[in-house]
Amino acid sequence: MAIMITDECINCGACEPECPNTAIYEGGMEWTWGGGTDLEEVEMEDGTVVGPDEEQEPVSDEFYYIVSTKCTECIGFHEEPQCAAVCPVDCCVPDPDNEETEEELTAKKEWMHAE
Ligand code: SF4
Ligand code: SF4
Repeated sequence: MAIMITDECINCGACEPECPNTAIYEGGMEWTWGGGTDLEEVEMEDGTVVGPDEEQEPVSDEFYYIVSTKCTECIGFHEEPQCAAVCPVDCCVPDPDNEETEEELTAKKEWMHAE
């Protein structure tokens, strides 16, 4: 499953540069599909196509946040979630609303990063 950041975040910023998928953003900052990935365009469920550099609404305005659709639990890059490993207050935790199998996470990683 994806990792999420709770409201115990102290906004230290330590996790952001550790993410191999650039799935972590500062609160209030827009995120992009193309940041840290090889994605060229992404088709949404409603059929709209989003470009890699199109800015998306922040998930949180107060705390660092994780874009769950870009989080792979670091599969394919690291043995454990790097954000959780560096967070000084242990507020990077499994997201119960975004449960995924290892196969699904691996497929997500391969989709985002061209070999
Ligand atoms: Fe990024 Fe890994 Fe944390 Fe997911 S678990 S947000 S991929 S550092
Ligand atoms: Fe927040 Fe933890 Fe990331 Fe620091 S490392 S910004 S406390 S989630």
